[in-house]
Amino acid sequence: MSMGPGMGRMGRGFLTEEEKANRPKVTKALLRRIFSYLLPYWKQLLLVMLCIAVSSALSLYPSILTGRIIDEGLIGRDLNMLIRLIILSLLVMLCANLIGVAESYLNTWIAQHITFDMRNAMFRHLQQMSQRFFTTNSQGDIITRMTSDIDGVRQVITNTFTSILSNSITLMIALIAMFRKNWILALIGIVIVPLFTIPTRRAGRTRWELTRESQECNDNINGILNETLSVSGQMLVKLFNREEKEYRKYEAANQKMIDLNIRESMAGRWFRVTMSTFSSIGPMLLYLVGGILIMNYDSSLSVGDITVLVSLLGRMYGPVNSLLNIQVDWIRSMALFTRLFEYYDMPVEIRNDPNAVILENPKGNIEFDHVFFHYDPEREILKDISFKLEEGRSIAIVGPSGSGKSTTINLIPRLYDVTGGSVRFDGVDVRKIDLTFLRSQIGMVTQETYLFNGTIRENLRYAREDATEEEIVEACKKANIHDFIIAQPDGYDTMVGNRGLKLSGGEKQRLSIARVLLKDPAVMIFDEATSSLDSISESKIQEAIDPLIESRTSILIAHRLSTILAADEIIVIKAGEIVERGQHKDLVKQGGVYTELYRTQFGREIEKKAAPAGEPVAANA
Ligand code: ATP
Repeated sequence: MSMGPGMGRMGRGFLTEEEKANRPKVTKALLRRIFSYLLPYWKQLLLVMLCIAVSSALSLYPSILTGRIIDEGLIGRDLNMLIRLIILSLLVMLCANLIGVAESYLNTWIAQHITFDMRNAMFRHLQQMSQRFFTTNSQGDIITRMTSDIDGVRQVITNTFTSILSNSITLMIALIAMFRKNWILALIGIVIVPLFTIPTRRAGRTRWELTRESQECNDNINGILNETLSVSGQMLVKLFNREEKEYRKYEAANQKMIDLNIRESMAGRWFRVTMSTFSSIGPMLLYLVGGILIMNYDSSLSVGDITVLVSLLGRMYGPVNSLLNIQVDWIRSMALFTRLFEYYDMPVEIRNDPNAVILENPKGNIEFDHVFFHYDPEREILKDISFKLEEGRSIAIVGPSGSGKSTTINLIPRLYDVTGGSVRFDGVDVRKIDLTFLRSQIGMVTQETYLFNGTIRENLRYAREDATEEEIVEACKKANIHDFIIAQPDGYDTMVGNRGLKLSGGEKQRLSIARVLLKDPAVMIFDEATSSLDSISESKIQEAIDPLIESRTSILIAHRLSTILAADEIIVIKAGEIVERGQHKDLVKQGGVYTELYRTQFGREIEKKAAPAGEPVAANA
């Protein structure tokens, strides 16, 4: 997939090497598709075209009137005529400008509405994308599509489209008017204008390259700032004593930036000098040739005519220059649309079956029936997983890191679909159950708790917007977090900070348990954090989970012995296969994977409790 910043950032005029290499294929289908976005606004578009045509034509008219002002008013010494012509010129100009205002309003309106439609459609589409999409694509890339690429579309409509139309019309009218005045001078004009746009383009290119370089430099600086001034970045910098090195890196980038900025602004200066020098040669040539014609050959040609021709010539530089850029604008616009369409066309992996059912009285029986799963066909992650979890009971899944525990539970709310076998909810394949319903029945507390930057109450309400204050408090009491919350100066209105970073890992997890409790799902899935919490936090979490496990159908990915012991059955997964299952007291004696895990992982917990290894635990179980 070709990457690249949106049109706006690149400036106009020239294609980068990358853009040249990735020229999009313009097919009828592509054009038809672009057109389909414009179609709902065809009436407004037609009106815009009309406005552009009229205002371009009108804005040239005063130039044409200048000839009569000179010939009939000034040279003819007719004051009445002079005043009439001046008023007419002013009125025409005023009209052209008023129509121009209407045109730019309409244009902005259309562009904003089209991008509004595209943004919404894209957001909806992206929300349907599977977990796989979000783990594969970088967040920056997704955000670029949503923001600068769609913004590029707005620019295509407001700038490219308008400029093609108005410039072609201006040029056409100017040429017709020039030929009607005098064909020889008109021909000189046609030859001169493109010749003089060449040096302008050269100067423009230098400037454009500098702009690009400074954009890259700016990106680099932003990257440094993002990396070093973020919460985790700063921590890394401090812990590895990288302050001085990071400072020097930043200073060097900053230095490069100012050099570039100075060069860029001087190039701008040269650009203007070149422009004004070259553009004054054209009129001089017309005066000279026109003068020779009047004096020696063509007495019908007037001073006013020459003034009109010079004035029209001046109006042609801009449009010619813009039209020379059309190809670049065109390629860039097509690339932009192609890139956006690529995103729109990404298949929705997890779809709601059209005949999906909503179960009445959901119980929460879960069954894995010979389930296979892979992220990548080359590597099977889950191999023939089968187990049954009946209503009200609980299963603890244990196993070494990377064995496939999280993957297993992700299949239940269909974050991914199985590649073989089936996962059933109350006896029905989850792929045949209405997705919204299915997910409403499953409460998941993941290892990484995601809280958004808002108050505790807002974060809790995410689970259920209409939850009453009492329900919120009750859930927090059950999750063992209520006391902590009310001890805060702002209580439930305490801000949790960026991604909840103002809270500890244990507090966050208890908050997320409360959030799931508010949802009141039939099945609870709890992916216990592997990160070590202190024993007080741990026991608080444990107190929160224990009653849950007792009262609900639950699946626990357990890293702590106490959690495992609370479950009715233990399933041991290793390299994607169930290798052992049963009760703690039996498994611990088998001398297999569980015994090993028990020794290495849970042993520490036992040491912490200063109990003689095995015995009290076994007695507990
Ligand atoms: P842990 O206890 O460390 O959380 P786990 O048993 O939950 O581990 P999973 O997260 O299920 O393990 O991962 C199982 C395997 O699948 C791992 O080898 C991992 O590298 C791979 N894996 C996980 N997620 C993805 C993904 N989105 N794309 C590709 N491979 C993945």
